[in-house]
Amino acid sequence: MDFAFTDEEETFRTELRAFLDAEVPDWWSGMFVDDERAMPFTRELCRKLAERGWLTMAWPTEHGGSGASVWKQAIVREEMWAREEPRGPQYMNLNYIGPVIMRFGSPDQQSRFLPPMARGEVIWCQGFSEPDAGSDLASLSTRAEDCGDHFVVNGQKIWTSYADAPADWCLLLVRTDPTTPKHRGISVLLVDMTTPGITVRPIDTMAGPHEFNEVFLDDVVVPRDCLLGELDHGWDLVVAGLTFERVGIARYARAGRVIELLVDYANANGLGHDPIVRDRLADLHARYEAAKVLNYRAISMQAAGEIPTVEASIARMHNTQLEQAVGHAGLELLGPAGQLRAGDRWAPLQGEVHRYWTRNIPSTLAGGSLEVQKNIVAQRGLGLPREP
Ligand SMILES: Cc1cc2nc3c(=O)[nH]c(=O)nc-3n(C[C@H](O)[C@H](O)[C@H](O)COP(=O)(O)OP(=O)(O)OC[C@H]3O[C@@H](n4cnc5c(N)ncnc54)[C@H](O)[C@@H]3O)c2cc1C
Repeated sequence: MDFAFTDEEETFRTELRAFLDAEVPDWWSGMFVDDERAMPFTRELCRKLAERGWLTMAWPTEHGGSGASVWKQAIVREEMWAREEPRGPQYMNLNYIGPVIMRFGSPDQQSRFLPPMARGEVIWCQGFSEPDAGSDLASLSTRAEDCGDHFVVNGQKIWTSYADAPADWCLLLVRTDPTTPKHRGISVLLVDMTTPGITVRPIDTMAGPHEFNEVFLDDVVVPRDCLLGELDHGWDLVVAGLTFERVGIARYARAGRVIELLVDYANANGLGHDPIVRDRLADLHARYEAAKVLNYRAISMQAAGEIPTVEASIARMHNTQLEQAVGHAGLELLGPAGQLRAGDRWAPLQGEVHRYWTRNIPSTLAGGSLEVQKNIVAQRGLGLPREP
């Protein structure tokens, strides 16, 4: 396996970096902040990326992409995640909501939903988790009653990122047949978030404002042409969608950038000779390289048209644990001052390491927890029995 990028891909990376250097302002630190500049900035950046054909570059041309290789798309992901994802919520459209519609949607749904995503104009959210259905997602109870030409939805979702952005649409998982075993009888609806009966309530956490929401659905009417895939067979879409999601996030790139910051900090503060510091940083760097290659393996399978379920889980396990390890090592290296938050004038590295550490506390939960990933590897990868 040769994972080296070609000269053309490296040239593209240089061009993209120059573009981002010019476009991403110093104040940008991701979406989950109380800063009214964040949403207009990310919308404008996505418009510019779309103009250059860089937003959905690996999508087929008929869906508004440029037909570029998945490797060029991987370069975009790496450069974006290294800069706190200036595409904001759009990365979800590109990485998995769009691809799931491409794979399972009708031609009408594809022509309706994909072009606005390719232009960077719409925000989608993912309505999967419920208060009593997280890891055990198939236990979800949000009910969609089949009324012929429409469904009526009642229930509650939670942890819905970007719902308050506000999201325009939701990829909503619902139970359409409560009489069958739990993995069956589930369907996916494409729901207009302005439909009467939808209430979004933000949840503030230590990771920052605007990261999470509750979404309440009371007698929400969804037209039948917004059913994605077959009725009662939504679980296949969930597996494909979550796999694309796991591959689609270049978490290692963000970890790599923080490792670079820590190396610079160690050198600038006379810590570069300390054997403990060298040990920790070298160890993190090795883990970063391994996480990157594991992601590349999953991407290469995706490029071949496969759904790399086990490989995506393995990559995810390494990536999320790397992020947490980098955050912990960073706080230790900076000492007590490392606990000062961004915005405090005495905070070393502008509080970036503290912010990184805080944000990554839940990273081993998002998109399926670490334990859930291990279960996938145990069962599907190693052939161990399904959990009782
Ligand atoms: C940053 C972030 C963003 C998110 N964004 C979204 C979103 O946009 N849309 C959405 O729908 N959801 C979202 N989620 C929710 C996420 O998918 C759930 O948090 C996750 O699936 C875990 O579910 P839970 O929180 O209910 O925890 P639980 O399922 O209650 O798990 C609690 C703990 O028990 C462990 N556990 C559970 N079952 C097992 C088992 N069988 N074996 C071993 N250990 C087990 C888990 O690993 C975990 O440590 C997001 C979560 C995070 C952290």
